[in-house]
Amino acid sequence: MAKDASVTLDTLLELQDRDIAIDRLRHRRDTLPERARLASVRTELEAVEKQLADAVTRRDDAVREERRFDDEAGSLESKAAEVERRMYSGEVSSPRELQALQADVDQLRRHRRGLEDRELEVMERREAIDAEVETLRARVGELESEAERLGVALGEVEGEIDEELGGERAARDEMAATLDAALLDDYERCRERARGVGAARLIGNTCQGCHLSIPSVEAERIRKSPSGTVAHCDNCGCILVP
Ligand SMILES: [Zn+2]
Repeated sequence: MAKDASVTLDTLLELQDRDIAIDRLRHRRDTLPERARLASVRTELEAVEKQLADAVTRRDDAVREERRFDDEAGSLESKAAEVERRMYSGEVSSPRELQALQADVDQLRRHRRGLEDRELEVMERREAIDAEVETLRARVGELESEAERLGVALGEVEGEIDEELGGERAARDEMAATLDAALLDDYERCRERARGVGAARLIGNTCQGCHLSIPSVEAERIRKSPSGTVAHCDNCGCILVP
């Protein structure tokens, strides 16, 4: 091997530092508060949009009901006017018949007033729903701008992190390219097993990866073995660098 083996192991520790930096950046990217806030704003937006759709449906129903009462009242009034026209046309002369017609007119108008009262009730109800629709529309608008603002903010932070990640990854790959492929494989396997720690410094009897001690005889053996010999921590399995 042309490379100095102890230098190689030190490079492995530097690679480990880069990998930790990359893991931290990825974790930061995955747990950005902007993303959580955006999700909660979107959830609220969805709920308010549903409420708005429901209010619009109720409002449209009320408008239809209002129009129906109005039409019915209108048609009753036409009938009453028609009866009155007959009464004053001179076609009917019998007082008894005229009295009966007047009774019809009165009855039609009473019925019409009843319908107009109901129409008024519906109108009041509809006006309350109109106000509700307005409030909900305004809230939807607010939430949409909030979601847009958060989306832009999230994109910016993600962009910054991605740029940093790109730099770290390039540096990491450059470093990895100088390492022996088998050692690199070993390191990657250890990293997977030991939750991110593939290589750690051995200080005294303590592995700096898991912060547990290994037997002092073992620590001594690792320190005295030829430079570049690969040894693993008994506890976490990472590569120990004396
Ligand atoms: Zn360990």
